[in-house]
Amino acid sequence: MKNHPASVGAVLAIVGSLFGTSTFAQNISETVDSHLIAARTAAGSDFLGTLARLCIAPVAVPATQRDVAPGPAPARDTWFIEPAKVFDNLYFVGSKIHSSWALKTSEGILLIDTLFTYNSEEEIVGGLKKLGLDPATVKYVIISHAHGDHVGGAKMMQDRFGSRIVMGGPDWDSIEKSVNGYPQGKPKRDIVADDGQKITLGDTTVTIVTTPGHTPGTLSMLFTVKDNGKPINVAYSGGTAFNFPSTGPNFDTYIRSQAKMAAAAAAANATILMSNHTEFDSAVPKIKMLALRKPGEPHTFDIGKEAVARYFTVTGECAQAARLKLTQLPK
Ligand SMILES: [Zn+2]
Repeated sequence: MKNHPASVGAVLAIVGSLFGTSTFAQNISETVDSHLIAARTAAGSDFLGTLARLCIAPVAVPATQRDVAPGPAPARDTWFIEPAKVFDNLYFVGSKIHSSWALKTSEGILLIDTLFTYNSEEEIVGGLKKLGLDPATVKYVIISHAHGDHVGGAKMMQDRFGSRIVMGGPDWDSIEKSVNGYPQGKPKRDIVADDGQKITLGDTTVTIVTTPGHTPGTLSMLFTVKDNGKPINVAYSGGTAFNFPSTGPNFDTYIRSQAKMAAAAAAANATILMSNHTEFDSAVPKIKMLALRKPGEPHTFDIGKEAVARYFTVTGECAQAARLKLTQLPK
């Protein structure tokens, strides 16, 4: 982020109110608009779901976050979807709304995210079995962040299969502090992820990139998948929406993490962008379209390095717009 536009906006707002002119206010709203336009341009037709959630419908979140019990499980047909093999070594065992990815290695499975408590059994354990994979061979589970829609099956994987659970330190802390969030029990603190840490299983390595913002311990990742033997690099973004307390410092942290992950993705030559919510990376239609792929056509997830970079422009610019709007709220 350059030139701290939010602080400039705050100063202009004060100056504007002192002099009672409307010119300054207009300049500020143009700046918010300029971030929204930059995000819209970057989104193109690739990231409309991300744009809609972050730029069009963000909601202000109070400073005190609630520690609530999970709600009742919604109807199965709102979330159930069949599992799928997506690359030579990567399998989707998620729901219609959330991703869980199984990365198959020479020494077992590395799983990324575990959905809700209510659907992890059927989608992950059931899904792996349907795909001919053994859930007992899941050696590592990396949790993108400790919200109920990603960490819900971690305790099951730990208890039933002895999978090692990898999570950001602040998110382990939030689980331990939670009073109401885990009525069916909490996963026990296991591996605390560090920035740059490499989780290696057999022939496969996942590199952790810490991207605090969505939660303080959010983890993003870099890894390589194979498409008919051809290696393709993946940038996996571990936290997206602005449902953290709406403060300037929290947005600054989020914005810094988007720039950090954009740089990491570029350095890794990532041409695939994956998210943990299917609305952000269009995983469900991309999986469906795979069936229509003709020989020689690119994989539906392989969008190119330039498009991967645009994703992080969308998240960063929408955050800058939301950050700047904070300074314009009535005092
Ligand atoms: Zn979340």
